[in-house]
Amino acid sequence: QNQSRSVDYNAIINEAFNLFKNEKKGKNANYIPYLDKVNSEMYGIVIVTKDGQVYQIGETKYEFGIESVEKVFTLCMAMELFGDQVILDKIGANQTGLPFNSVPAIEQDGQKPSNPLVNAGAMATTSLLTSHFGHKDAWEKVDAYFAKFAGRKLSVIEELYKSEAATNMHNQAIAMLLKSYGYMYDDPFFACDFYTKQCSYGVNAHDLGVMAGTLANGGVNPVTKERLIQEKYVPKVLAIMGTTGLYETTGEWMYKVGLPSKSGVGGGIISIMPGKFAIAVFSPPLDKAGNSVRAQEAIKYISDKLNANVYVAQ
Ligand code: GLN
Repeated sequence: QNQSRSVDYNAIINEAFNLFKNEKKGKNANYIPYLDKVNSEMYGIVIVTKDGQVYQIGETKYEFGIESVEKVFTLCMAMELFGDQVILDKIGANQTGLPFNSVPAIEQDGQKPSNPLVNAGAMATTSLLTSHFGHKDAWEKVDAYFAKFAGRKLSVIEELYKSEAATNMHNQAIAMLLKSYGYMYDDPFFACDFYTKQCSYGVNAHDLGVMAGTLANGGVNPVTKERLIQEKYVPKVLAIMGTTGLYETTGEWMYKVGLPSKSGVGGGIISIMPGKFAIAVFSPPLDKAGNSVRAQEAIKYISDKLNANVYVAQ
């Protein structure tokens, strides 16, 4: 009810920005050398409403690594192509309770990738796409789909890609392990490399806001008005975000905030209030699970102020 009256989004993001701008907790991801060097002070907040209004404050133009937030849009593409049952059967939809790159998680869930938003499941999902399109055409197809979500062409940050590709042996091992269990649907090293490149997309907070806004708007990009995923699939994507979007701390996140969300180790987090708006926040320092500290604080503040929570009767 609150939101149908005029809401002063600008005032709320302003408050959220100022309240947490001096937050000192958290550390940049350091297992990917490029991310360790990014300026930790950068901080930006964007809200994109269902009807395409954009509200922003702080650093919303700097392009940072999309990292795991890409997993959501890879999932959208795979679900749109193959349907929701294939995602359930070939990837899974269970929380692991373990870090995003956990090997034991694979062992404990019937040797399955568990879900599309951890590294194992994201690489398996990517492998569905690369085997479908073929190695030669896959990048162009995925690139075009991501561009539609952002409403502009995205580019890979080459330095980040190189930095991550030179240090991603652990992900290669996971891809190979999945292959041995029959849950990798293309060459594991090709899929791992392709996934690494997807994680290296440069996005700014505004891009993430529009991408997330598409999910808040039932699958239609609120700015370009183009439909990118069938409406019936959007709740499935949000359900997976709501159970695993912040890795092993998703339970606490949903308890405190109640918005399906996705984080990336580049410092971005997106949150979706279905049918209303999306929030995207960028700030590099992360907590132990790999989620941006300031982004979590800002999103919690905004969602409290707007009474935005998927579990609250609207
Ligand atoms: N590319 C990163 C990795 O595979 C993404 C991890 C993340 O953002 N949680 O390790």
